[in-house]
Amino acid sequence: MYDVEKIRADFPILARKVHGQKLTYLDNGASAQKPRAVLDAVMRGYGEEYANVHRGLHTLSNISTDRYEAVRGIIARFLGAKSEREIVLNSGSTEGINMVSYAWAAPRMRAGDEIVLSLLEHHANIVPWHFLRERLGVKLVWVAPEPDGSLPAEKLLAAITPRTRLVAITHVSNVLGTVVDVKAVTEGAHARGVPVLVDGSQGAVHMPVDVADIGCDFYAITGHKLYGPSGSGAIYIRAERLAEMQPFMGGGDMIREVTRDSVSYADAPMKFEAGTPGIVQTIGLGAALEYMMDLGMENIAAHEADLAAYAAERLAGLNWVTVHGKAPGKAAIFSLTLEGAGHPHDISTILDNKGIAVRAGHHCAQPLMDFLGVPATARASFALYNTREEVDTLIEGLELCHRLLG
Ligand code: PLP
Repeated sequence: MYDVEKIRADFPILARKVHGQKLTYLDNGASAQKPRAVLDAVMRGYGEEYANVHRGLHTLSNISTDRYEAVRGIIARFLGAKSEREIVLNSGSTEGINMVSYAWAAPRMRAGDEIVLSLLEHHANIVPWHFLRERLGVKLVWVAPEPDGSLPAEKLLAAITPRTRLVAITHVSNVLGTVVDVKAVTEGAHARGVPVLVDGSQGAVHMPVDVADIGCDFYAITGHKLYGPSGSGAIYIRAERLAEMQPFMGGGDMIREVTRDSVSYADAPMKFEAGTPGIVQTIGLGAALEYMMDLGMENIAAHEADLAAYAAERLAGLNWVTVHGKAPGKAAIFSLTLEGAGHPHDISTILDNKGIAVRAGHHCAQPLMDFLGVPATARASFALYNTREEVDTLIEGLELCHRLLG
């Protein structure tokens, strides 16, 4: 049984107050809070077991290396990868997607080649492709969502032409909560010979992910949204694509041998992990993913689906609120604007005074804001520890905003 009160007790920060009010943390889409298991892993990592990894032949370095390397296997299990050698550890999705842009896409793309993107994308899955547009003359082909925010796979697939070299698509929109059928996208794209990158920054947080079943070529995740430390993350890269990639960054840890005249590289995935990594952050991410898997990703998804349905129902009762994105089966992410309420920053400030944390702004999705015809929204994004009572608190907060601003 999913005991949300027991789960909340695992997150010490949820007991604190903000402006003298009980904290209602609804900014999970930006970053999630950390369970004690993660805090303990980080404390132990630095307080009892810390040394650099892969280098030393001493006890602490061996412990640290074992703990760090074990996370590769945990991530492989979490994502359903066939082998942990397909997991490249990094600092988060932004680094992962940039790595694919530099190390896989740039060497194989020419002027006039096309990358299919959707208007749902976060800047992290836009700007690295703009680099290729600027430097190589690659064309970005944009696919808009439907008016309800959904994005049918067929619509993305219809944008593929003989010049398409990649489809880069989010699994879940960080603004609208839309869930994209990335398996159908991948099947269709592969049938046309086109690889698929999935930005899983939000997707892996809210539902079970099985990259072997999806069949995608790249799947990027970011630790801080997965209840782990910031500065941790990984990207799954299918073995065939890994074999096609050039090293991205050069330095320690990624080489086999360096001489004055030559360099040879370690095998993948180490070849793509130059320099001292985020050792303890990654160990903390391992603890976070174990925590999620212990709760059960299906159970987390079911709990959040209940919150999403309840929030949608309560918000529908406020006729002065516009909910942007109403795709069926959407994740519990609600982007809102209030009639006559000025800038969403004002909403966020009023809610903050009530202890409610939401995010106001463009959410690093300016092309989507442009499509929606708004400069910004206030976004309430729910997590595995949120409750129906917190939905009620949000509604009361919005009613106050309406009274003060409307
Ligand atoms: N992609 C999506 C959909 C996101 O929501 C985010 C973070 O907000 C990112 C990418 C970037 O993640 P990070 O800043 O952790 O690299």
